[in-house]
Amino acid sequence: RLYNQVQDLKGTIRIYCRVRPFLSKQQHQLSTVDHIEGGDIRIITPSKYGKEGHRSFSFNKVFGPFATQEEVFLDMQPLVRSVLDGYNVCIFAYGQTGSGKTFTMTGPTEITEQSRGVNYRALGDLFQLSEQRKGTFSYDVSVQMIEIYNEQVRDLLSNDEIRNSSQKGLNVPDANVVPVASTSDVIELMNVGHRNRVVSATALNDRSSRSHSCVTVHVQGRDLTSGTTHHGSMHLVDLAGSERVDKSEVTGDRLKEAQHINKSLAALGDVISSLAQKNSHVPYRNSKLTQLLQDSLGGQAKTLMFVHISPEFDAIGETISTLKFAERVA
Ligand code: ADP
Ligand code: MG
Repeated sequence: RLYNQVQDLKGTIRIYCRVRPFLSKQQHQLSTVDHIEGGDIRIITPSKYGKEGHRSFSFNKVFGPFATQEEVFLDMQPLVRSVLDGYNVCIFAYGQTGSGKTFTMTGPTEITEQSRGVNYRALGDLFQLSEQRKGTFSYDVSVQMIEIYNEQVRDLLSNDEIRNSSQKGLNVPDANVVPVASTSDVIELMNVGHRNRVVSATALNDRSSRSHSCVTVHVQGRDLTSGTTHHGSMHLVDLAGSERVDKSEVTGDRLKEAQHINKSLAALGDVISSLAQKNSHVPYRNSKLTQLLQDSLGGQAKTLMFVHISPEFDAIGETISTLKFAERVA
């Protein structure tokens, strides 16, 4: 209990972990995850990864394979709601391809109300809360969707590449900003954005993406009594797959993609860990993603790094490296 309080006080960076269930055709396999409790997770490590046995990791929260989308969202709800009070929030989904990042952020291929991910729930919740507060506050909500592929930024809500801009204020300058007023507006917009994502087939998962996608929600709030305004923002980032590719197996474009992905994920890890350690120098300049999010990471901003792991034994190498990444940034 005390430990958790101390963790909360530590402030603005939280680390969550989610374990994907086995996919239906392989249900009776043994999982590499043998124990989950609160924020603790224990992994079975085959001898290939050091001494055979177990390894434990501790985060703010671990969700097992049976956690529902609703349970996951309920835990994140206070964070999401703080956007209406003028906070900047960043939520990152990290993990190897196929570990469930898109499931958490968006949902499965066929999205039902129950299987809807964080993006839809967060916006739905903001609309609901702003409706409840409408006697005292008015809120304008708008959305941007961008993709970073090979360190190039593309607007998912238009077909243009985004020019670099030094314009202050907006975190993602020049990308289309679309006002939204209801969950159906959001669904329509996300559908446009998802159709525009760069998707290339990989051996692991043909829905996987080799790009980072970022949904940014801007909230302009107005206190109807005093007339004062404030601005909050939320970045919902579905990161590219974190798996290491074998340099002997890929060449050309795939190798270049992989190098850009590795570099930008490492840069993100460096930024978050230096914020967690309250270093005076934070290396934002090392990747497009951290450059774009500079104003929303650090200071009063709240960050959630949500790492995802697969339960299969053949994923153990990536699972351990994902958990180590999460442990390092905490
Ligand atoms: P990623 O985005 O990390 O590549 P996906 O979200 O596409 O991974 O997940 C891979 C597959 O596993 C998809 O078919 C997805 O629907 C399924 N899946 C992922 N997480 C869960 C979960 N928590 N419960 C049920 N199915 C899941
Ligand atoms: Mg995905």
